[in-house]
Amino acid sequence: MVHGVRLHELGGPDRLVWEEIPVGVPGPGDVRIKQRAAGLNYIDVYFRTGLYPLASLPAIIGMEGAGDVIALGEGVTSLSIGDRVAYAGALGGYAEERIIAADRLVKIPEGISYETAAAMMLQGMTVRYLLRETFAVTSESVILFHAAAGGVGLIACQWARALGATLIGTVSTDEKAELARKAGATHVIVTAREDFVARVREITNGRLCDVVYDSVGKDTYRGSLDCLRPRGTWVSFGNASGPVPPFELTLLKGSLFATRPSLMAYTATQAALAANAADLFAMVASGRITIPINQTYTLRDAAEAHRALEARRTTGSTVLTI
Ligand code: NDP
Repeated sequence: MVHGVRLHELGGPDRLVWEEIPVGVPGPGDVRIKQRAAGLNYIDVYFRTGLYPLASLPAIIGMEGAGDVIALGEGVTSLSIGDRVAYAGALGGYAEERIIAADRLVKIPEGISYETAAAMMLQGMTVRYLLRETFAVTSESVILFHAAAGGVGLIACQWARALGATLIGTVSTDEKAELARKAGATHVIVTAREDFVARVREITNGRLCDVVYDSVGKDTYRGSLDCLRPRGTWVSFGNASGPVPPFELTLLKGSLFATRPSLMAYTATQAALAANAADLFAMVASGRITIPINQTYTLRDAAEAHRALEARRTTGSTVLTI
């Protein structure tokens, strides 16, 4: 028997229970991996609370991890026992061992640790599709990026800098502002004492932004739309403050575009997953992006990690070690 963190009922962090879990043998196309690290992501909170539905309970949440292949199911030829692998977007990550489809895994390049792989796959591939595909950011682009000192945020600051774009980040504290600036944000707005819409107007001299990346949701969507120039793009990709409520389409009257993307849709095919991961690994290998693992907890202490994430006490990425 191996251990994992299981959810028997939806609710607060205390619902996350460390216990023995069954794993089973890999079916056709699957492999069994021994995990060395799992990633913590805000989506884990959505599943825990029920904002995003789980197929059944009890459930093992967690969408990201890294480890070693220890058993192959029938027909798996792309991987061998002992391969170092990582994934993002497959529920079941809060476990010492798990079964996963072989075509959802990528091999971890030499020089990248299990911890870094577990920290970067979900947040890093998200930044890649947001900045390269959802809206093709260039050196001419002016971007507003909310939660700029978070896991996704600090990677986005670095990737935007590499593309030569102007990134305006929002954060809640001065300490977080410093981190975002160091990661490459051109301007940082501290929301505890500044009105982000007024500041965006000032910073851009009224030109406003080409694209707003909004993962905060309920508290920010209205202001985010006001930060866009005509024909700008609003990318609503998360709900840290709660889901965006239904709104009148006339709010997009400045000929705005609105999209609600997900990493799963952008990495649905094996080819798309491989291309995204390869680009991300190349950015990290070249030193243009460093994955900031600013918190580490043992998997057993996942509840504590959830408390910190929801209380906005974390910055950068958080890893659960196994
Ligand atoms: P973060 O590390 O960014 O943590 C969330 C941050 O949101 C907080 O640190 C906080 O930063 C900010 N925030 C603003 N309001 C609230 C609130 N009321 N409660 C809690 N936090 C708040 O998390 P992740 O990097 O894991 O994810 C960032 C966002 O991106 C999440 O919304 C997540 O769901 C989304 N996401 C979406 C994906 C997709 O494909 N659609 C994929 C990956 C992530 P501050 O204190 O500075 O305001």
